[in-house]
Amino acid sequence: MPPYDDQNIFARILRGEIPCRTVYEDAYALAFHDIHPQAPIHILVIPKGKYISAVDFGQTAPAENIAGFYRAVSQIAQDHGLSENGFRLIANTGQHGGQEVPHYHVHLLGGKKIGAMVSGG
Ligand code: 5GP
Repeated sequence: MPPYDDQNIFARILRGEIPCRTVYEDAYALAFHDIHPQAPIHILVIPKGKYISAVDFGQTAPAENIAGFYRAVSQIAQDHGLSENGFRLIANTGQHGGQEVPHYHVHLLGGKKIGAMVSGG
């Protein structure tokens, strides 16, 4: 695994160097609106630690941080009324997964019926 890049855009957002539209923050997670929303509600949730990907997070984060992160995801889904009608949770990972930003994050997409699970090539 390559080293964590401290200059990636989400690291800079976490340090407050780049603004974001925050919707939730606690000791484990920061959540904000995606700059290019793909659905009426498109929120990114990122852990506060330096984790590159889903694999890195699952392998190296303390259990408390993993639990805290997913409790935040659940809370945000409920806060935005997504749990009633459903939503999609996506974690693009690595090159084949189309991950652009090398800081682990999940996309919460909802507010309408989300289309095909996998599209494009
Ligand atoms: P990925 O492809 O890595 O899973 O998704 C990265 C996401 O970050 C994209 O949906 C992109 O629109 C979003 N993004 C990239 N730069 C910024 C930024 O500066 N601010 C916000 N709020 N979102 C960003």
